[in-house]
Amino acid sequence: MIDRVDVLIIGGGIIGLTIARELLKEGYDNIAILEKEKEIGKHASGRNSGVLHAGIYYTKDSLKAKLCLKGNHLMKDYCRQKNIPVFETGKVIVAKNEEETKVLFHQIRHLRQHHGHEYKYHSAHQYLPHQD
Ligand SMILES: Cc1cc2nc3c(=O)[nH]c(=O)nc-3n(C[C@H](O)[C@H](O)[C@H](O)COP(=O)(O)OP(=O)(O)OC[C@H]3O[C@@H](n4cnc5c(N)ncnc54)[C@H](O)[C@@H]3O)c2cc1C
Repeated sequence: MIDRVDVLIIGGGIIGLTIARELLKEGYDNIAILEKEKEIGKHASGRNSGVLHAGIYYTKDSLKAKLCLKGNHLMKDYCRQKNIPVFETGKVIVAKNEEETKVLFHQIRHLRQHHGHEYKYHSAHQYLPHQD
């Protein structure tokens, strides 16, 4: 039974485990993680949709958007190092009307300029069934 630790982390989901990993890298070696389940990652971290979000829906330049994008890159790097497969499928974002199209164009231009993202524009006709 451990009776003294320097850092006690409650919850062995991705957040708790990542904090522990970062602390280890900083030289902390007396860390404990308290997890109420028998195994780690049994809740949200182990049963989510597995999408690495790019922060496109968050307010432009907000801390949330920046951290999401940074986390996306860090997670991809981590997966490459550990030989964990990541499917870089891209994402199809559909604008439903003129107004949304304008917002989308604006957002995409910004992301391309500031973050070097690649985008392709598709016409809706490409996705509609052909009518002969
Ligand atoms: C359906 C769904 C789909 C999602 N899809 C995505 C996605 O595609 N992409 C994405 O980036 N994010 C997604 N998320 C969000 C993501 O899964 C969570 O943001 C992330 O897993 C949260 O991690 P966490 O460590 O904070 O929480 P958790 O993974 O929930 O970990 C918390 C841990 O704390 C433990 N715990 C709780 N209370 C105590 C206690 N009192 N004592 C000891 N242990 C305790 C729990 O047992 C658990 O293991 C999704 C979430 C859900 C629910």
